Amino acid sequence: MGGLRAGYGPARVLHGIDLAVREGEMVAVLGPNGAGKTTLLRALSGMVRGRGSARLRGTEILGRAPEEIARLGVAHVPEGRGTFAPLTVEENLRIGAHLLPRSHVAGQLRRVLSRFPVLQAHLSQPAGSLSGGEQQMLAVGRALMSRPRLLLLDEPSRGLAPLTTRRLFDVLRAVNLHEGVTMIVVEQNAQLALEFAGRALVMESGRLVLAGEAGRLRPGRRVTSAYLGPR
Ligand code: ATP
Repeated sequence: MGGLRAGYGPARVLHGIDLAVREGEMVAVLGPNGAGKTTLLRALSGMVRGRGSARLRGTEILGRAPEEIARLGVAHVPEGRGTFAPLTVEENLRIGAHLLPRSHVAGQLRRVLSRFPVLQAHLSQPAGSLSGGEQQMLAVGRALMSRPRLLLLDEPSRGLAPLTTRRLFDVLRAVNLHEGVTMIVVEQNAQLALEFAGRALVMESGRLVLAGEAGRLRPGRRVTSAYLGPR
């Protein structure tokens, strides 16, 4: 993406983000509250209007409707998950596949359930009856049902117990490595993000202030502690 700018009405939030994400990469986006991390993901999925440029395999996505961007292979797991509480787990997953050809849905459902066996066990239960961790897995599973090339995840660890978070990130890593799904993960838990992601970006006030291999941004480094706080 180049010179990516976005905001809400007259309020400019992103002030020109330049970033190239390689296919198959997992990139973590870190930074303080209000830095614009969520807005970055929203601009990429078409939920807020972005200006500048963001291309997916050469195709410009800015200025397109969210549905069109989804068709190009972008799936977004928003903050707060956005699963439909009264619908069953299976119904939620099938909604995620609404852009797939019908003949591919059953196979994709099997594939996603093999990643999240806990969802298999609760298939006919309402999503609202699941634990927070299970609901987050459902939200990710639903996004994966569309067979995305690029998965945008907004604070997937929020509200989850450490063990559940780790389990979720293990699945994300497996999907990233074995299915080649590119991922941009906004994460408050910097330590976790640096452990799982190949590369990390730090945003502040709508700008990228730091980017590098996650290994080089590990805790203890002077430059990171300035942005990420002591860990
Ligand atoms: P957090 O970790 O708190 O979610 P963030 O880095 O994701 O922070 P954003 O949610 O992108 O940051 O918010 C960036 C700025 O945009 C903030 O100043 C916020 O108040 C503003 N903002 C976010 N959503 C809206 C909205 N719907 N309308 C107007 N302003 C908004």
